Amino acid sequence: MQDEDALREVAKDCVHCGFCLPACPTYQLWGEEMDSPRGRIYLVNQLLDGAPLNDAAAEHFDRCLGCMACMTACPSGVQYDQLIEAARVWVEEAKAGPPVTAGVDGDSGLARTVRDRAARTAIFSLFPYPKRLRAATAPLRVAQRTGLDRRLARSRLPDRFSPVLGAALRLAPPGATAADARPLPGRVPALGTRRAVVGMLTGCVQSVFFPRVNAATARVLAAEGCDVIIPRGQGCCGALSMHAGREAEAETFARRTIATFEQAGVDAVVVNSAGCGSAMKEYERLLRGADEGWSERAAEMSGKVRDLSEFLADLGPVARRHPLPVTAAYHDACHLAHAQRITKQPRELLRAIPELNLVEVADAGTCCGSAGVYNLLQPEAAAELGARKAESVLATGAPLLISANPGCSLQIASALAERGQDIAVAHTAEVLDASIRGRPL
Ligand code: SF4
Ligand code: SF4
Repeated sequence: MQDEDALREVAKDCVHCGFCLPACPTYQLWGEEMDSPRGRIYLVNQLLDGAPLNDAAAEHFDRCLGCMACMTACPSGVQYDQLIEAARVWVEEAKAGPPVTAGVDGDSGLARTVRDRAARTAIFSLFPYPKRLRAATAPLRVAQRTGLDRRLARSRLPDRFSPVLGAALRLAPPGATAADARPLPGRVPALGTRRAVVGMLTGCVQSVFFPRVNAATARVLAAEGCDVIIPRGQGCCGALSMHAGREAEAETFARRTIATFEQAGVDAVVVNSAGCGSAMKEYERLLRGADEGWSERAAEMSGKVRDLSEFLADLGPVARRHPLPVTAAYHDACHLAHAQRITKQPRELLRAIPELNLVEVADAGTCCGSAGVYNLLQPEAAAELGARKAESVLATGAPLLISANPGCSLQIASALAERGQDIAVAHTAEVLDASIRGRPL
């Protein structure tokens, strides 16, 4: 985390113009100044000036999606990401004490409720660990096969027990097929002349819920002339922890990921999940000033990280594209469009596919409500944003939605299903793969 003087300098860039307010999903939802970027920057300033962190301020920070739409909208270039990340660390530290009964604060005046603490413990002991996540979702697969999951979700019984459980049930995708779930080899050789040697992050949620996206990514990279190294020992990149203010945990994951890909000896590390790519590009800042060479190693690793679409657009195509006669809507994941400023490259790659008609979603810059684990921790706000996004997607009339982030795919598919609409959702990698292989999606 930045030191306080550096944070003060960042906060000073805000001239309170309010241009970011219309772009902010939580301001759109509640119309509250303190749920806008400008309001949250005001709160950060107050804390930097020595004001104590209270529950109300912590709630405004918790409600921020971290979508960074405000950074795209801000004409003064305020680095809001640095401010909210610091605020989240303060909230986590302040709320680290024993839990309190729902609605009643303890002596500290600031603590998570038992239910909130339990939800966070479950989320952060499961999601960053693919083996645990796979094991924990095994009973869900049985429920999906028998239709029990849909009956439970409709009954809203799980929501009464825990809103997190209810949201998780609605969001969970169908299980991967045995063929999809087969582990990828450690190396997928380039087809034809080798043009690059790249590492590939398989991710936690991506590898458990969308292994076919990873398989498609490796095939596309190989078809474009890359030797793809998929290190076995890789785990969570730390994105979920970083975006939730769990700094020490994020640093541990970051160090492990850096060491793993250093050993792989690759030109670039290609990431197909927007949230993970954005976090790995932040390693430099996360480990700035760390000892034993970690600061330099983190900077070097951040410099090697490329989103899949960014990497492919730079590399240029050599693999032949076959026609895919379909109309598809493209969804901008916030951590791609706002955090990494990558909007052109996926569109260019998709438009280069013969007969694919790419259409835009009306509110492309607005978060779908997924935002890491926001849809589990703030299920009501997330459901409202998901519903709005689903309506915008449906308004395009496209039978296919393309998204480059597993969380967004789960969130929008769930919101569409709530409306009884079941349009196909695919990752950019799967669409490119289908076109290169000349197979239907
Ligand atoms: S963050 Fe940027 S857009 Fe928002 S009020 Fe401050 S200067 Fe204006
Ligand atoms: S990150 Fe998103 S939700 Fe948070 S203040 Fe910025 S625009 Fe609003």
